[in-house]
Amino acid sequence: MKIGSHLSVAKGYKKMGDMAVEIGANTFQFFTRNPRGTKAKALDFKDIEKLESIMKKNDISDIVAHAPYILNLASHKEDTFEIAIRVLKEDLIRMSETPAGYIVLHPGNHLKKGPEYGIKRISEGLNNVLDEKEEVMILLETMSGKGTEMGRNFEEIREIINYTEYSDNLGVCLDTCHIYSAGYDIVNNLEGVLDEFDTIIGLDRLKVIHLNDSMTEFNSNKDRHQKIGDGSLGFETFVNIINNQRLKDKIFILETPNELSGYRREIEMIRNAKK
Ligand code: FE
Ligand code: FE
Ligand code: ZN
Repeated sequence: MKIGSHLSVAKGYKKMGDMAVEIGANTFQFFTRNPRGTKAKALDFKDIEKLESIMKKNDISDIVAHAPYILNLASHKEDTFEIAIRVLKEDLIRMSETPAGYIVLHPGNHLKKGPEYGIKRISEGLNNVLDEKEEVMILLETMSGKGTEMGRNFEEIREIINYTEYSDNLGVCLDTCHIYSAGYDIVNNLEGVLDEFDTIIGLDRLKVIHLNDSMTEFNSNKDRHQKIGDGSLGFETFVNIINNQRLKDKIFILETPNELSGYRREIEMIRNAKK
């Protein structure tokens, strides 16, 4: 199975390779740039080559990039919308120079303009960003539905895909904490939720699963990640997810509140639970 955690890109790409090895990961996720800003350091190709050799040696692959949180493709404000388009266009090119094949994106916030507006606006943005054939795929993340957040249900994601012209470049990242908070009961009815995902979006579009337990109860619409087994989802739920036949080829990424030693423990726990 492909399992790893989110890692800090602050000390460069090679450093992430070292950290992945340290925690026993065979994949990982990192931010394309400062998560709360839009400034990007120029890529250091020597550094990327060093990462690539660590990856090769240690069987690390299928690494995932995550776009900054502040991007909002659903915004009616012209400047916010334009910045999101510019950053995503840049990051599609930048990430194509790294071993990352995916960029996870929070769909956006409609800011009280309503979900219908948000869906069309996000698609308009994606139509500006995406071209016929991109090397890197954008993955829309399922969100908890706090505030005016888009992507709170599978239907919204489906509609965004429908309105996007080059939708071959679009996939989905499912976050376990977020969907449980959004009212998908993966604790008691994982198969039912996967059926629903498959009917509405299609499981072939699902590439990455964020494995996070949750500090808040079912259907809370909150977004508070918890360590695996310590939250409202519980360890059994994760055992079911990682052993589900329909999810066997997905990439699993931990975004739990942990230091490296904690990630190392969780990766080991999950590997041990793999049947
Ligand atoms: Fe995310
Ligand atoms: Fe996530
Ligand atoms: Zn989250």
